Amino acid sequence: MTCLVTGGAGYIGGHTVLALLDAGHQVVVLDDLSTGFRWSVPNNAKLIVGDVGDFDLVCRVIRTEKITSILHFAAKTVVSDSFRDPLGYYLTNAVKTQTLLAAAASETISNFIFSSTAAVYKSSESLVSETQNVQPQSPYGRSKYMAECMIKDVGAAHNMRYAILRYFNVAGADPKGRNGQSTKNATHLIKVAIETALGKRACMEIFGNDYPTVDGFAVRDYIHVADLANAHVLALNRLQEGSESLTVNCGYGRGYSVREVVDVVKAVTGHDFEIRLAPRRTGDLASVVANSEQLRSVGWIPHYDELPTIVRHAYQWELELASERR
Ligand code: UDP
Repeated sequence: MTCLVTGGAGYIGGHTVLALLDAGHQVVVLDDLSTGFRWSVPNNAKLIVGDVGDFDLVCRVIRTEKITSILHFAAKTVVSDSFRDPLGYYLTNAVKTQTLLAAAASETISNFIFSSTAAVYKSSESLVSETQNVQPQSPYGRSKYMAECMIKDVGAAHNMRYAILRYFNVAGADPKGRNGQSTKNATHLIKVAIETALGKRACMEIFGNDYPTVDGFAVRDYIHVADLANAHVLALNRLQEGSESLTVNCGYGRGYSVREVVDVVKAVTGHDFEIRLAPRRTGDLASVVANSEQLRSVGWIPHYDELPTIVRHAYQWELELASERR
């Protein structure tokens, strides 16, 4: 049974490819390499360079590679960008998912795993569970939520089981050093802070200190990319064994403010660096922390759920990137 991983040359898709291979699955990656990297696809996975919105290509790959499950990561992912480019986000995240689902339905794919996001929720002072607070606040969140709705409807009509994984804030790198967050011009907090610690940036900005949170800074639930990758393997194994479809939060259930994260980055790297207060960033929410009971209840056991561990692995990867071996 071979799985097709769209966006498997990217950050989260790439770590999931490693986890799938480690667990003994056969993997074919479909990636247009717009933000992903050819080098990041291991030799024991096959890379097909192409577009998930190409119906004929996807049908051909499913047939020739004998694909039974699809894990769909290929997407645009930056909340603030989605306000500047809503059409690009709706095209990539909603329209192309529709095409991919059409191919999956016409080739009778059994299992579909989807990379969704906590951006389907509105801000909340308490932990968010899967059935509450679904009210996306950005074009990005809405494009992902549209895809979720399509997957559920297609699943019901075409007897396709699905797992929708809603990621909270993903960070860190493969503990064995095989992969990490390599995106150019990254906007994500931990990556930006580590680049600043290493002197790749002169200083960093903190967007907003007037949120209704304990210290005024925005609060997020940071999940290690390896724990998240393992959640995909668990979800795939369950679907392949015939378990029910599920929609599930992927986070630890613990929030850290931007200030706390920056302090951990300074402590782990041993570098102090300049931070500047800046206005709130468009689309940012005050607080989003997962209720992760449901994922834990199906057997997910996180191994890297300490913020200093996440930061240490991300830092080690950044040093590897700086060494220019990649
Ligand atoms: N953030 C920040 N400075 C940065 C990058 C991010 O203050 O250079 C803040 C951002 O405003 C948000 C939090 O860090 O409150 C997490 O942002 P990130 O882009 O990592 O993830 P998001 O929650 O937007 O998906």
